Amino acid sequence: MSAREFAANPPGAWGPVSTEDWNDPAWQLRNRIQSLEHLESRLRLTPEERAGTILAGKKLALGITPHFFNLIDRQDPDCPIRRQVVPRVEESITSPEEMTDPCGEDGRMPVPGLVHRYPDRVLLLVTDRCASYCRYCTRSRVVSGAGEQELSIDLEGAYDYLKKHPEVRDVLISGGDPLLLSDAKLDHILGRLRQISSVEFVRIGSRIPVFLPQRITHDLVAMLKKHHPLFLSIHANHPREITAEVRDALSRLADAGIPLGNQSVLLRGVNDQADTLKELFHKLLLCRVRPYYLYQCDLITGSAHLRTTLREGQEIMEQLRGHTTGYAVPTYVVDGPGGGGKIPIGPSYIVGMTDDRVILKNFRGDVYEYPEISHSPVSDLRG
Ligand SMILES: *Cc1c(COP(=O)(O)O)cnc(C)c1O
Repeated sequence: MSAREFAANPPGAWGPVSTEDWNDPAWQLRNRIQSLEHLESRLRLTPEERAGTILAGKKLALGITPHFFNLIDRQDPDCPIRRQVVPRVEESITSPEEMTDPCGEDGRMPVPGLVHRYPDRVLLLVTDRCASYCRYCTRSRVVSGAGEQELSIDLEGAYDYLKKHPEVRDVLISGGDPLLLSDAKLDHILGRLRQISSVEFVRIGSRIPVFLPQRITHDLVAMLKKHHPLFLSIHANHPREITAEVRDALSRLADAGIPLGNQSVLLRGVNDQADTLKELFHKLLLCRVRPYYLYQCDLITGSAHLRTTLREGQEIMEQLRGHTTGYAVPTYVVDGPGGGGKIPIGPSYIVGMTDDRVILKNFRGDVYEYPEISHSPVSDLRG
């Protein structure tokens, strides 16, 4: 399929359901796949998936919306959509380098649910539930209700903290998925944040536009629009996720003046090919979504089967930068294991540096020199 084609994702293989129900977000949520029985009735599982699904209830719940499930190619056990949401037994294997809190968030919460790592911005977790669960979730320790840890959230405490910390000018609302909250609840949270005069910039991180595009209703968008400037980051990993329904949902958001970004996670067997990512990023641009970050997969427990090396990631980035539209090239970052925050990992185009020159290579590997200006003090020039 060319990047310009947005295939519709009708009920089709799901079975008999009216178009009205299918397009109803409440119906989509009610009919999510959440049990082994339901999953097996619709998909012939491999032994690894079956064992993984049985174990999922102890770690990160199984959850797949009908919309997203219908994107799975049922004939292909290696389907990139399937790998993101169908549990596998490898999730129960913890490699020595893996952690339950790979980004070190728990230690950085001055208020439950509020992560303050950077000088001028915070991450505010407002729910522990998502429409579907990504098997590589960096917050699997607290998300979905299946794990041992509970996410405590103290929104009043968070508003108080922000009032006392006027250096925080940027609030990123995430979770779980904030767009799973009702319009009224989200409206209230956004309104309370907007009342704090030092908060200039609010953004929402959500995979709902991809997992449940039906949720992006005109009412939701009209509510969001009241809280400008409001940005939204979505999470798409593979070009097949950008269906006609997703395109239309994104278009409603963009038409409401909400700048859209995308955060992808680089995943083995899902999108670890430059051509796959290029097609995804081109499709996103057509939907007015700017690829923002490409994340190296966090060292979350049970993720080894989905992780690539940093070197592979750099090689992919080298095949994008300069070879396609700059707007289509995200920043490749790794969250410093244990709590270092986001670190850009290039690749670097600087080959060498001396006091008077920088040696550079371009996207073709050709070498260039940029002479450094020497800012001699004015007195020197006067001699
Ligand atoms: C990612 C993140 C942010 C936002 O970082 P940006 O680079 O500004 O997008 C803020 N706080 C925390 C804790 C984060 O993990």
